[in-house]
Amino acid sequence: MPRVFFNPFTGLYYFLRRKPRRAPVTPEVEQLRAQAKASLPPRLKELADEHGFTYNRVTIKNNISNWGSCSVRGNINLNLRLVTLPQPLQDYVMLHELCHLKEMNHGPKFHALLESLCPNHRTLEKELRQYKLR
Ligand SMILES: [Zn+2]
Repeated sequence: MPRVFFNPFTGLYYFLRRKPRRAPVTPEVEQLRAQAKASLPPRLKELADEHGFTYNRVTIKNNISNWGSCSVRGNINLNLRLVTLPQPLQDYVMLHELCHLKEMNHGPKFHALLESLCPNHRTLEKELRQYKLR
């Protein structure tokens, strides 16, 4: 979920593209990565099929700057630490990134789409903020 800025003059939202920060690779990270590779891509596919999204590629990342991201090419990146979160939060992050395939911003259309797929997304977003990435 990259930072988004709203320009009041143009009424448009912009992504601030930062270079993702990587976490050091430790045995624990490798273990999480293996778990993540086994469980996240099948779940993402399931959610995409269920809600009619098509993505290009999914990559598991060892980032400390975001839980997930989506590129204009339709590639989805998921943080390997997602597997340490409760399932509803994992699903929320995946649905959030899937919605970016159709709306590459955090504008009203994005929120309406997310709301239709995940009516409790505001609560989940708040819960997610309690889990710090490091
Ligand atoms: Zn986002």
